Amino acid sequence: MKTCTECKTAKALEQFYRSAASRDGFSPQCKDCRKKRDRARYLANRVERVEQQRAYRRDNAVAIAKRMKNWYAKMTPAQQKTKLAGNHRWLKNHPEKNANYVAKRRARIANAPVVELIDRTVVYARDGGLCHLCRQPVPADAFHLDHVIPLVKGGEHSYRNVRVACPPCNARKGARCAD
Ligand SMILES: [Zn+2]
Ligand SMILES: [Zn+2]
Repeated sequence: MKTCTECKTAKALEQFYRSAASRDGFSPQCKDCRKKRDRARYLANRVERVEQQRAYRRDNAVAIAKRMKNWYAKMTPAQQKTKLAGNHRWLKNHPEKNANYVAKRRARIANAPVVELIDRTVVYARDGGLCHLCRQPVPADAFHLDHVIPLVKGGEHSYRNVRVACPPCNARKGARCAD
């Protein structure tokens, strides 16, 4: 038996990863705690990775658009049609991803100063599934994204300006500032 330094629970040695760096040959934290920590790191870096990709796309926008155009132009009309149908089918089968694109389009139409493609699941994980207005947990399949500074007031559609909100809070806020 060994006590995990993280959850302070005594567990069998099989519940610890081997670690050459430790005196007893096992890592100080149990497997569950290590997995939890790795997952948290992964999610934290995910926002950073999205930012990096966004910067790349912004700095290379002209080249990327040209590449896409060339690639599309090389296809026959029938292939283009198949490709578009495929895109539509994919969006229909991935409603949660589609919602990300719909939100982005809406922000662009609202002339938001910054428009990112926001992955709702990343925001949900970042905010710990809590409504930022009432601090209560919101189910993963029923949360809203709230613009802290509303789009109508010139707010960005960016990771730093969105928070998880429960539907009632979002509706209450929406009635106040029409976002
Ligand atoms: Zn533990
Ligand atoms: Zn709420």
